Amino acid sequence: AAALIETDAVIIGAGPVGLFAVFELGLVDIKAHIIDILDKPGGQCAELYPEKPIYDIPALPTVTGQELTDRLLEQIKPFGAELHLNERVDALKRLPDGRFSLITDAGTEFITKVVVIAAGGGSFTPKRPPLPGIENFEGHSVFYSVRRIEAMRDKKVLIVGGGDSALDWTLALQPVAKSVTLLHRRDDFRAAPHSVEKMRQLVETGDVRLMIGQVSSIEGEGNQLTAATIKGKDGEERIDVDAMLPFFGLTMKLGPVADWGLHLTENLIPVDTEKFETSEQGIFAVGDINTYPGKLKLILSGFHEVALMAQQAHKYVHPEKKLLFQYTTSSSNLQKKLGVS
Ligand code: FAD
Repeated sequence: AAALIETDAVIIGAGPVGLFAVFELGLVDIKAHIIDILDKPGGQCAELYPEKPIYDIPALPTVTGQELTDRLLEQIKPFGAELHLNERVDALKRLPDGRFSLITDAGTEFITKVVVIAAGGGSFTPKRPPLPGIENFEGHSVFYSVRRIEAMRDKKVLIVGGGDSALDWTLALQPVAKSVTLLHRRDDFRAAPHSVEKMRQLVETGDVRLMIGQVSSIEGEGNQLTAATIKGKDGEERIDVDAMLPFFGLTMKLGPVADWGLHLTENLIPVDTEKFETSEQGIFAVGDINTYPGKLKLILSGFHEVALMAQQAHKYVHPEKKLLFQYTTSSSNLQKKLGVS
């Protein structure tokens, strides 16, 4: 592995429930690391509705998805949990000593005493354009993200989409690529106005080609793309392409969670309602990913679940210690952990 990290708890998913798990675990002296495939914390709240108000968070009559995320990050700060973004947990297995090993797609390995799966609807995954044969090119000449700009040097790049990602990459790759074509269904972009304006200038000077239409087919040899046919209002045009970058947004797919040998019911992880533990001792599931009689997929349910989960996790992480029930308002011990006394 590229890096090895030993810890008490690993939380898979930095949605609102994964973030609050840091708090509840921290109160019972459990140190946690959080991992998320997204490039930011907040899960659905930050990715799907950052600007929409939520009205059913207790004591916050209205709070947007992004504000809720920011407030949770502030609340868990005292516990110093390390956040590992842009990493997907691919493998999870039990070690002979009873602990767990988790491995991410970036090659990081975590050795941990307990695992908290807060994976929501699953990992966010780029939407694939409905083009036959596209999977042959993925990772070679069709990319849903760009890890190294240099890899696009001197290439004929076709960027598809009309949001921020499409616009940002059009601007970033134009100086290094041999040519950049931006293709969108309509001549109307849902992206930051200054990027749209900059793109229009580059189109004006002939440095970027803007096409309105859709890719109707792609061709190539082996895994190397060579051309795409674009269908527009005025017919079809075939253009030479070395690399295609479709930015059609993200969907949630269960992903690797299905491969970890846990019992699943309709892509959800059944848990008990006392400890929120899965079919494997020491592996918990909280938030949208779990199921039990009466489950409501609400943020407030997840907050309750992590409090109970932490009680049981304490038994595995600190088996020699007895847990006392304490209030944050009156316990100087808890206040010390929170850094408020
Ligand atoms: P999520 O927020 O789904 O986060 C899970 C995270 O885990 C994701 O970031 C994902 O990338 C990551 N992940 C998954 N698998 C892996 C893996 N293998 N490796 C790494 N990372 C992984 N709820 C309310 O209570 N009130 C509302 O008003 C409300 N409004 C909503 C409006 C909309 C439009 C939507 C879509 C949802 C709304 N919800 C609302 C539901 C609420 O957002 C969810 O209940 C909540 O986000 C669940 O939190 P979570 O932490 O369980 O999971």
